[in-house]
Amino acid sequence: MELFAGEVFDGKRLAPGFAALENGILEVHPGETEDKPDRSGVLIIPPPINMHTHVGDAFIAERGIELPRDIMELVAPPHGLKHRLLAEAGDDEVTNGIEKCIGLMENRGTAAFCDFREGGRKGAALLLDAASGFSTAPFVLGRPAGTNYDVCELEGILKIADGIGISSMSDWDYDELQKVADHAKRSGKLFALHASERVREDIDLILALMPDFLVHMAKGTRDDFGKLATAGVPVVVCPRSNEFFGIWTPLCEMLDAGVEVMLGTDNAMLFEPDILAEAAHAMAKWNLSVEEVLYMICARPRKVLNPDAPFQNPVRGANYIVVERNLDTVVVSP
Ligand SMILES: [Zn+2]
Repeated sequence: MELFAGEVFDGKRLAPGFAALENGILEVHPGETEDKPDRSGVLIIPPPINMHTHVGDAFIAERGIELPRDIMELVAPPHGLKHRLLAEAGDDEVTNGIEKCIGLMENRGTAAFCDFREGGRKGAALLLDAASGFSTAPFVLGRPAGTNYDVCELEGILKIADGIGISSMSDWDYDELQKVADHAKRSGKLFALHASERVREDIDLILALMPDFLVHMAKGTRDDFGKLATAGVPVVVCPRSNEFFGIWTPLCEMLDAGVEVMLGTDNAMLFEPDILAEAAHAMAKWNLSVEEVLYMICARPRKVLNPDAPFQNPVRGANYIVVERNLDTVVVSP
């Protein structure tokens, strides 16, 4: 048996606790242990959740090409480099990249990830297939191939996916997008979108779509953040991805306004989908407390991906993992 002493995260606060690892099972207890721990000063936390990935573009990193640091040139659909490469890539190449990503997340004790998957129903199916052998659970937000509401296409995606993830409101005719959002919500599935990443978009129009969460909001104003806080719509921020494109993440402004913030790693062609590394980065950059960051990666995502909801995948895996206080070093991930 191995014994780890430190603090246990209960979803809000850290309190003294310890964990005993025996035969691959981690038993967690509150308070102090009377035995001498093998390691002390650790954090015992619920396995984190990566709230924003695009694992489908991981294969692009393998190609070793220099990627432009311009959002329009690199990731804007349909002509951004990423979309051109996705369109011509073979399924095997894309699947290999996805499997590498999920393997890494599994090794790092990630319970689940929420992916904005390109390529319609086929793209969603490819990801679900690739994820089937892993303990890290995929939450797949598919997207229509074009930018018009097609009932049959949406039915097809929602049959296998956990919801719809849209590139951005500006890519769509608003009435068409409203129909997509309504359809997803009517089906009891998630609806989310990238918002105000490169340029500010109208927050009232975005909120009228009743999204479950937004991604980025980097160009949001104080007024926008106030409205998000009032509406109770959380925002996933991806600081390393923003930095790659030279975009400032107004994370403290969001927190000050009362916005509920979560973290994601965004495009896998830019960074490995390592949510603990993202959390460590955010903690250092904004001098956040460990509890604040743990709330963003361990607690708030579980409220969005409610395991009791009729999604495709429950949040599987261990109840706790053990990490160092820097969050970046995994000690035990059963
Ligand atoms: Zn994204």
